[in-house]
Amino acid sequence: MRGSNGAAEARIPRLSGGAAVWAAGLVLPVGAPPLARGALLTDEGRLIALGPADELLSCVPKSARRDFGRAILIPGLVDAHTHLELAALRLPPAPMADWIVSLVRETRAWPSSLFLASAKVGAAGALAAGVTCVGDITASGESPAAIADAGLRGVAFHEVLGLEGDRAGEVLERKLSALGRHHAYRGALPGQPAAGLSPHAPYTASPELYRAVLRACRERGLPAATHLAESPEEARFLREGGGDFERMHRELGSPAGLFRPPGCSPAEHLDREGALGGLRLAVHCNQTGPADWERLRRAGAAVCLCPGSARFFGHPLADAAGMRWAGLSLCLGTDSRASSPSCSLLGEAAALGAAGFGAEELLRLCTLAGAEALGLGGEGVGQLRAEGPADFAAVEPPGGVPLSAEALFHPESRVVCTVTGGGVRFTAG
Ligand SMILES: [Zn+2]
Repeated sequence: MRGSNGAAEARIPRLSGGAAVWAAGLVLPVGAPPLARGALLTDEGRLIALGPADELLSCVPKSARRDFGRAILIPGLVDAHTHLELAALRLPPAPMADWIVSLVRETRAWPSSLFLASAKVGAAGALAAGVTCVGDITASGESPAAIADAGLRGVAFHEVLGLEGDRAGEVLERKLSALGRHHAYRGALPGQPAAGLSPHAPYTASPELYRAVLRACRERGLPAATHLAESPEEARFLREGGGDFERMHRELGSPAGLFRPPGCSPAEHLDREGALGGLRLAVHCNQTGPADWERLRRAGAAVCLCPGSARFFGHPLADAAGMRWAGLSLCLGTDSRASSPSCSLLGEAAALGAAGFGAEELLRLCTLAGAEALGLGGEGVGQLRAEGPADFAAVEPPGGVPLSAEALFHPESRVVCTVTGGGVRFTAG
């Protein structure tokens, strides 16, 4: 190790030839105080130390120093809800039932190679937005390979659907064999994503299927996620049946006749059916109120909000401030590019600013909160801390905007570099 500062050397272990220092005008570690003119020392994929730039820069040769100047270094963003494999699909805004019919008709004929290519487009878009970790939903089973090859981390939730309760076991078995392929994949650094399961939504998955999936998740130690209470159409379909969602099922040839409206909210339905406890992540939850929040809180499920997707469909957005006061764990997702014009997680967070969330809190929602919701918080994902993964992004605010947490959410701030496992995965042109 080279270095002229004795204090730094005393704390820093022996470094490999691949050690690097990344400096910037401000470092926001999340969970630790901000560092003005700070730096990160990384080696072998891990973050070794954070400290004053002047102190750390001298620890490595000049060729291993990267100074972002007037930029902010933050933990890599955690996008807790994506469908990377749909990134290449563009659908115009439409009522949700019509949009789902278009999506299913379009992708039914896709070969697996197209899902993989689309997922790679999605992974590249995520990196360009400063994202280093995703909670991804995959119906095709192709996205884990794209996630690993891009150097992202996260969880790939394999999606299951089916209204036929007596076929729940069969549907699950088929998906579990796809999981075998997931586990067999060996990708590039930092490694393959963890596997999870996802019953799609209460209007497409029977209570039997939910329970079978949650049982399998318990037995295998896998996380589970579901879409929940996303739209007024869903709330109506569960309350009284009929409407746009029944028409959607008919148009897609799915057995809508098997669906018996439970006459309650989507969250209450899952709760009554014993299909809420054990869920790691409930996505959207726009159509929920205090009684549902209490159900979700008791179940230990985090709520992933997707403001951009709600705007695309014209859905009323969840009462995020109410959820926070109710003690729910919140995080953020961009959903699919097929239902959201942007994969900017910072933009999603900015949409919550009006609900009274401060900038530090918004940064936490985009980072550590997502990592915790995905079960990766203990590994140091979503924070800049010694011995955690060297996953971070550099964000440059426009000239004249002071460096601060608020600046991250300025509409003209841009991600200039994204690093995972100590390797540069994206640099702005
Ligand atoms: Zn989704």
